[in-house]
Amino acid sequence: MTEKEPGSGAGITPPENMTEALVCIDHLLWNTRLIRKQVGETPRIMGIVKANAYGHNVHKVSAALETIGITDFGVANIHEAIELKTGGALKNPASILAFSSPLTSHIECFLQHDIDMTLCDSETLQAAEEIAAAHNKTLSVQLKVDTGMGRLGTHPSMAMELLRCMENAEHLQLKGIYTHFADSSSPGGFTAQQLAEFKRLTSEYEHAVSRTVCKHAANSGAILTAPGSWLDMVRPGILLYGYHPAKHTPLRLEVKPVMQVEAKVIFIKTVEAGTTLSYNRTWSAPTLRSIATIAAGYADGYARVLSGKATVMINGKPYPQVGTVTMDQIMVDLGTEHDVKKGDRATLFGWDGPSAEALSEIAGTISYETLCSVSSRVKRIFI
Ligand SMILES: *Cc1c(COP(=O)(O)O)cnc(C)c1O
Repeated sequence: MTEKEPGSGAGITPPENMTEALVCIDHLLWNTRLIRKQVGETPRIMGIVKANAYGHNVHKVSAALETIGITDFGVANIHEAIELKTGGALKNPASILAFSSPLTSHIECFLQHDIDMTLCDSETLQAAEEIAAAHNKTLSVQLKVDTGMGRLGTHPSMAMELLRCMENAEHLQLKGIYTHFADSSSPGGFTAQQLAEFKRLTSEYEHAVSRTVCKHAANSGAILTAPGSWLDMVRPGILLYGYHPAKHTPLRLEVKPVMQVEAKVIFIKTVEAGTTLSYNRTWSAPTLRSIATIAAGYADGYARVLSGKATVMINGKPYPQVGTVTMDQIMVDLGTEHDVKKGDRATLFGWDGPSAEALSEIAGTISYETLCSVSSRVKRIFI
């Protein structure tokens, strides 16, 4: 890390970290190459780096992806786009696309920072043309079509009309048309239906204007299940970070987790049979037990619903987490005999511990949420 550590400076040593998220750039590159092998050489790969690259650090992830030829990046909104663009990590990105439908007040920011703007409706189109004209600049836009996700985008029946308006708007440049799948991890027919609608519409447009436009649709699920959806560009997110979008995707790539969260053992004690631990006293020692306290809790992203259900790895051995997860610490049952010492590292999830997927299943969520929940308090270490 290049930022200045708080509490560091002339002659002052910063405190040793107690909770860290190791981010393995080799695993990220490995996963990206597997995706490239899967989709072949034709489609571009847009690196999806929204939500601070699913918690991994947007600057480090984007810079690493750029070293292997990725020049398109997708983020959630204008704020994330500006952060990436002005952060200095990218040398020369071909494009940064913000997926969110912008507020009118954002349009000027898209122009100033040269970010691709998602367009979903004619009011935004008109406002964008006026603002771009007033600045005597060209705004890059990508049309979002809602083929069934039901979140953002123009209804397919209105898309041709919007595209016609775009043709007449002198200060707007159409850089792409895209859609998003609602259920692409499942092999069912809905993805095929969405794709058919999208292809019908884009070919009607391309035929009408006698030129092609960049068309894209495939998220990680569709990269695994729907080769016909790869088109001109694919948009992997979760696969880059080493997880599959769902447990049941028929095709599995040999992706590796990019993040491992580790926290130190900060206290060990022995308790008598019947001693209770933590808030609400939900666990009591069945016999004499050794208990380790570990420096991570729900404020670090270790969900409170995991209380009493998860396992952590210490020195290669699994130990059950016991009692209620607190804000800053968890407790682990070391049993009666153990070789754990204060200062040892516990792996909460990652390549040596339970996977984020396994932990997520216990918590009733998906790996995406577990990764994004690792809070800013957890120091990212790039290895
Ligand atoms: C998040 C997102 C993706 C990536 O989804 P994954 O399931 O993580 O691959 C692709 N496209 C859009 C529009 C998204 O919002």
